Amino acid sequence: MIYLDNAATTKPKKEVIEAMMPYLTDYYGNPSAIYQFAGEAKAAIENARESCARLIGAKASAIHFTSGGTESDNWALVQAVRLNPDKKHIIIIRIEHHAILHTAQALRLEGSEVTVLGVDERGRINPKDIEDAIRPDTALISVMTANNEIGTIEPIEEIGRIAHEHGVLFHTDAVQAFGQIPLDVNKLNVDLLSASAHKIYGPKGVGLLYIKEGLKFGSLLHGGGQERNRRAGTENVAGIVGFGKACDIAYESLDDRMKRESELRDHLIHRVLTEISDVNLNGDPVHRLPNNANFSFRGIEGESLLIMLDMRGICASSGSACTAGSIDPSHVLLATGLSPEEARESVRLTLSDETTMEEIDQTVEALKQIVHDFREMSPLYN
Ligand code: PLP
Repeated sequence: MIYLDNAATTKPKKEVIEAMMPYLTDYYGNPSAIYQFAGEAKAAIENARESCARLIGAKASAIHFTSGGTESDNWALVQAVRLNPDKKHIIIIRIEHHAILHTAQALRLEGSEVTVLGVDERGRINPKDIEDAIRPDTALISVMTANNEIGTIEPIEEIGRIAHEHGVLFHTDAVQAFGQIPLDVNKLNVDLLSASAHKIYGPKGVGLLYIKEGLKFGSLLHGGGQERNRRAGTENVAGIVGFGKACDIAYESLDDRMKRESELRDHLIHRVLTEISDVNLNGDPVHRLPNNANFSFRGIEGESLLIMLDMRGICASSGSACTAGSIDPSHVLLATGLSPEEARESVRLTLSDETTMEEIDQTVEALKQIVHDFREMSPLYN
């Protein structure tokens, strides 16, 4: 198998699983209990908090563990509009993940106002558009650090500066960027940041919300006093330990990984663009995650291409969602100006730190063959 769907999820590292195992077996104590045995679990959570914080230049006390990126995104948006009854306006961008888009939609139904800003043909937001959209009642600006489909990296530092000049809270969904590119919450002027373990070789079902120190921010989940009274629920101890281990590995390997993956990505992009005709690279050629390539092959439905790749043992994805028998084109690709047909022709290939040059070359050969065969058969393609 050649696994090129690492933006969907990554393979947990062996070291991550090994670090988690004792907390699924021997150290099963509830971290809230006062006896020493439970202290093992509590200490492990605090260690993991340090590891996660280090990866984004944060203080450990600003890290709050959640059940994943989706919960963190929901928390950030829902609580931001509850902070001040006179501030119920949110600014987001059209290419956000559904965890943001659908939460904003739910808040709109409850009376919030949401401004959804467009992006350019590469998927980038113009920070000036954010500034122009700010109103006296704006509670929050939420812009993703990097997009999950096309890998475009947004101008977060500049948006953070604008948000702060106007005294508006700034949240970034960093699920795809966390551990993949350098991030420093202080440099970026971020108040709130979402991340998820399973995108960086950690376990599924655990994530974090960074909440800047000193910010009064309410809970999303109510109940016990865990996470300093901010996120109720007995902690997912093993998951959190695995997340911490994944952060340690990500921190230590960041530079090497970025260099290696971007070289492989560039090789993949170069070969596809030069050896296959009528193909477009979606996203930004420069401001791009090191592990992302996204193409549209004219005249070929992405979903069909994925099935043919799968038959050759290659796992990839398309931005389209199959709902009730029809294929909805990706909202991200539509936002970059592609027609619904072009958006349906897209395929996303996302690399891991284990992806090899041989795998990339085999994938390119498979793509060439599949694209050629489909086009030969199609009466519409000329
Ligand atoms: N935000 C982005 C940009 C993502 O790519 C994802 C997952 O694909 C999420 C949020 C949701 O994260 P999780 O799967 O941890 O709930």
